[in-house]
Amino acid sequence: MPVSPTHQPDAGGRRKIEVGLLGATGAVGQHFVRLLSAHPWFRLTWLAASERSAGKSYGELPWRSATPLPGDIAALPVHTLRAGSGPELIFSALDSAVAGECEAEFAAHGHCVVSNARSHRMDPCVPLLIPEVNPDHLGLLPRQREVKGWRGALVTNPNCASVGLAMALAALRPFSPRRATVTTLQALSGAGYPGVASLDATANVIPYINGEEEKIETETQKILGTLEAGGVRPYPMAISAQTTRVPVLDGHTEVVSVELGEPASREELLAAFAKFSGEPQALGLPSAPAHPIVVHERPDRPQPRVDVESHGGMALHVGRVRPCPVLGWKFIVLSHNMVRGAAGAALLNAELLVARRLLDSLSRVDVAATARG
Ligand code: NAP
Repeated sequence: MPVSPTHQPDAGGRRKIEVGLLGATGAVGQHFVRLLSAHPWFRLTWLAASERSAGKSYGELPWRSATPLPGDIAALPVHTLRAGSGPELIFSALDSAVAGECEAEFAAHGHCVVSNARSHRMDPCVPLLIPEVNPDHLGLLPRQREVKGWRGALVTNPNCASVGLAMALAALRPFSPRRATVTTLQALSGAGYPGVASLDATANVIPYINGEEEKIETETQKILGTLEAGGVRPYPMAISAQTTRVPVLDGHTEVVSVELGEPASREELLAAFAKFSGEPQALGLPSAPAHPIVVHERPDRPQPRVDVESHGGMALHVGRVRPCPVLGWKFIVLSHNMVRGAAGAALLNAELLVARRLLDSLSRVDVAATARG
């Protein structure tokens, strides 16, 4: 079982939920640390990474964010991936080569693992969650416990490029999307650190990202799918993805065309994007943007450098909504791959788990008081 106490006061005496982080030293891991250091509900107290980093204090390892590393986190030791140690709630930013086995082991030992890695996303028992889109997929957790025999739980967030397409199509669900094509222009940070060699990336476009197209196609169908007794029935929609890596630091742009089953005017589509909202907004979860989708009317927006950091990196940007002579409608999507596509997405997932009292230890405390603190 996880051994640490679950609730610890921070420097201001407020009670927070202790959390741990697997893969704390990577590109996504550092975004987790940055976001968790200012989180109103969670307090990061336990870190783990590979044998290369274990045994050092976090502050001894390279820190690549412009946000200063808080002293209390710099002092934390980095552990190896040993399940059973660390708090109940564990975030994972592990390399997918190790995430599969390691996350399952943590879940088996009673941890609630909120993962960013691809390893378990398409497992029929594992929710692939965007809280504004498919919060009902948390209904998979009892079946997960039964099938896997885990004492804990595992929840995943989508691939950094799937999230943009899935949120945009979710907003268009009233018009029954049937087919879509998407071409991505993905940022360099999406390849982790040190990522793509500078001689390949500079002033260039690389027309291939290993495994990415299949992830976008299948994950989007699962996210938009229907929860049934046996699992999630994928949304019956054909999606064709092409992915490219471009010399942008943060922010994945997606060029989308979609065929709708129901007639819609441009004004109706703009209104559907702008009005799109969900459980995180209704509950006022700390990482939830007030408006999950920001609609742009200027023809030269959204742009990664100008728009991606707004709304804490948690909003999806949609622009250039216009008729498509092939599929009916086309538009541009932009999302922050390290925030809405990675660390921020996992935080929002964990906030939903807390708000729904799905962590074991929360059944013993007053979550509302903790959350307000
Ligand atoms: P990264 O920079 O390469 O970081 C990988 C992390 O995993 C590091 O903390 C590393 O620890 C740890 N690790 C690697 N091998 C390990 C091993 N054998 N044992 C224990 N720990 C090990 O990768 P990233 O870009 O942050 O991505 C992390 C995960 O998020 C991946 O699964 C990725 O697919 C997913 N993801 C990334 C993005 C994105 O935009 N970058 C978006 C969505 C999802 P050391 O530093 O000690 O080696």
